[in-house]
Amino acid sequence: MRKPIIAGNWKMNKTAAEAKAFAEAVKTKIPANDKVDTVIGSPALFLETLMNVSAGTELKISAQNCFWENAGAYTGETSPAALADLGVQYVIIGHSERREYFHETDQDINKKAKAIFANKMTPILCCGESLETYEAGKTAEWIEGQINAGLADLTAEQVSNLVIAYEPIWAIGTGKSADAQIADEICGVVRQTVEKLYGKEVSEAVRIQYGGSVKPENIAEYMAKENVDGALVGGASLEADSFLALLDFVK
Ligand code: PGA
Repeated sequence: MRKPIIAGNWKMNKTAAEAKAFAEAVKTKIPANDKVDTVIGSPALFLETLMNVSAGTELKISAQNCFWENAGAYTGETSPAALADLGVQYVIIGHSERREYFHETDQDINKKAKAIFANKMTPILCCGESLETYEAGKTAEWIEGQINAGLADLTAEQVSNLVIAYEPIWAIGTGKSADAQIADEICGVVRQTVEKLYGKEVSEAVRIQYGGSVKPENIAEYMAKENVDGALVGGASLEADSFLALLDFVK
């Protein structure tokens, strides 16, 4: 049985005071960690505050990006070693917004995954296709390519602990979610790709999230699907009430 993982992705939103107030509001209200991993993906600026506020609670904290070197002359980048030192447990990598606006490649993302594992954190590795690719019926091929490249040279043990988020670009922030059947089908493609690379045991262990206009009203439909182990949620993770309502499917 794979444990569900629900992660909010705040993107470039909130001030320090807002981030703190959010964590204070939700930290004692989330379900126990034996039922679900509940994660907030925050801008790097607020990670230390969030680590302090969430200490001793079930709430886990994720960064939204990091660099692949631990230290050096990389102006403006975030060190994975420094994130690990703060106690951050997850790092989102390869989000389509980073691929699009900051030109991140599959190779960059692969290097980041290795650096995150080397620092004993867990990557949440995003993949997803454009509307054009989707309409051309080439989604499976595209996703397979992203997974093959993103996972290059990772060990079976690392991939067993990895989280992969399938986020069709055309469904992000558009209100136009891929329906639960499509989400299940493509999360299944991700799982089969992992199986081809690492075998059945690893593919049964890796956790795969769906992301793209997930909200309290539709999350249960996704979570009922065999290949969907969680959700990566942008817009609906920004308000405490909505974030908590995403966890209502956990009984
Ligand atoms: P959305 O964003 O839930 O606002 O569609 C999801 C994401 O980009 O992770």
